[in-house]
Amino acid sequence: MVTEPADTTADVLVVGGGPAGLASAIELARRGRDVVVVDRGDTTDEIAMLFTPRAVAASRRLGVDVLDRADVLDRADVLDRDGAEWFHPIGRVRITAAMADPAHPGGAVGPSTSSAWPRVRVAPDNGGVGTRTGFVARLRALAATLGVRFLDGHDATQPIVERGFVRGACVRGPDGATGEVRATFTVVADGANSHFGRLLGTYREPDWPMALAHTAGHRSPLHLANEVEVVVGVTDRAGTPIAGYGWMFPTGAGTVGIGVMLVSTSPSFAVINPAHLLERFTEQHADRWQLDPDPATPAVGGRIPLGASVGPLAGPTYVIVGDAGGVANPLTGLGIDTALESGIIAGDVVGEALDEGSAAVLQQYPKLIDDRYGSFYKVGRLADRFVGQPPVARRLHAALGARPAFAEGTLRVALQHLRSGRGGVPELVERTARAVATFAPDA
Ligand SMILES: Cc1cc2nc3c(=O)[nH]c(=O)nc-3n(C[C@H](O)[C@H](O)[C@H](O)COP(=O)(O)OP(=O)(O)OC[C@H]3O[C@@H](n4cnc5c(N)ncnc54)[C@H](O)[C@@H]3O)c2cc1C
Repeated sequence: MVTEPADTTADVLVVGGGPAGLASAIELARRGRDVVVVDRGDTTDEIAMLFTPRAVAASRRLGVDVLDRADVLDRADVLDRDGAEWFHPIGRVRITAAMADPAHPGGAVGPSTSSAWPRVRVAPDNGGVGTRTGFVARLRALAATLGVRFLDGHDATQPIVERGFVRGACVRGPDGATGEVRATFTVVADGANSHFGRLLGTYREPDWPMALAHTAGHRSPLHLANEVEVVVGVTDRAGTPIAGYGWMFPTGAGTVGIGVMLVSTSPSFAVINPAHLLERFTEQHADRWQLDPDPATPAVGGRIPLGASVGPLAGPTYVIVGDAGGVANPLTGLGIDTALESGIIAGDVVGEALDEGSAAVLQQYPKLIDDRYGSFYKVGRLADRFVGQPPVARRLHAALGARPAFAEGTLRVALQHLRSGRGGVPELVERTARAVATFAPDA
């Protein structure tokens, strides 16, 4: 743990040392800026997380080495490679449809298709499964070598506001001692609940989709599999399909992560307990994945605001990144790739504002985020509502499990792995959906 004296000044204060905040800190430090990261350090979960190929691309852009072999056959070889202990490359995605069956709580397994990650120029051919702690440790080590300073175990309790401008934050250390971090600009990266962001006036659109995720890790001999499995058509106790999915993520390190993602457009969202949903889902899939009955890493859960549902993303002297800005993908519920991407974009914009000595440059950040995600996210939010309807969900889930081309195309759209130029059917569908969404009311 690195701990600077609490009273300090910097060019930039970063509130929150998760993937988004660290991405900004690394970008800014590379530009020669003095950065202080304040992190409460309450997120120590060993959970297995899926890194999409875009997350791998963003990690590499930052300088974090992740494995690139999608065909992991020889574990000994992999163990020699940097990053092996926390990152397991994954080359394929299996989509399985759960079929409603009263004999099986949560539904029995139906048709299933497996495909490689859809190829795209801007990302590598593999994703991976890694632990959050391992990833954050790598980002922190890199940031520290670039001169980023850390105030660990410190809570940014409230912004310092002078004449309407945020000039840093009041902080409280683990021993209760308080201090101030003063900075020209502040990057707010305090995650899904974003207490600091709320104090600055950010607001989450309450009717826009958000997700609840719950996951645990179990020991399994199948931990070296080169394929993650996504199960669509998971149902509530009444047999009604939920909007969301279940997953099995082999970690390459003895365990398989199993989890459920529940999107708020599910009809029974308000009454489903994600922990119970995970229990039933685990019961159903434990045999196929040869999971030990007792979890090796206990179940944890949290919320993920989706689809650019939080704003405004910039004020006169601050920007909001990652989950604090609600930038996770509304079609997948995944947020590491977008946390890194938004953190990198914010780092560049804040760096430019410092170079030019002009706070006005910060106002480019919401525009850049909108250019990157805006219309796709509008399509995603509308799609969440549509597939939240049980009759639509049933048809969609059956088709995903049974038709490889449809599954591959859906994955391509959901991951934003679209080919430039004319592309194929997924690109045509996506372009049409964006055009339709332009005229649709916001949702
Ligand atoms: C159970 C679960 C499973 C998930 N699985 C996946 C997955 O497999 N793949 C994927 O892509 N995404 C996944 N996600 C989403 C992903 O975790 C987030 O989108 C991502 O971590 C967002 O990064 P972030 O840096 O914005 O926020 P966070 O990772 O939440 O980091 C915020 C940081 O800010 C710190 N902090 C908060 N408040 C303060 C404060 N006041 N002062 C100081 N520090 C503070 C916290 O301690 C934390 O370190 C999952 C989410 C959950 C809940």
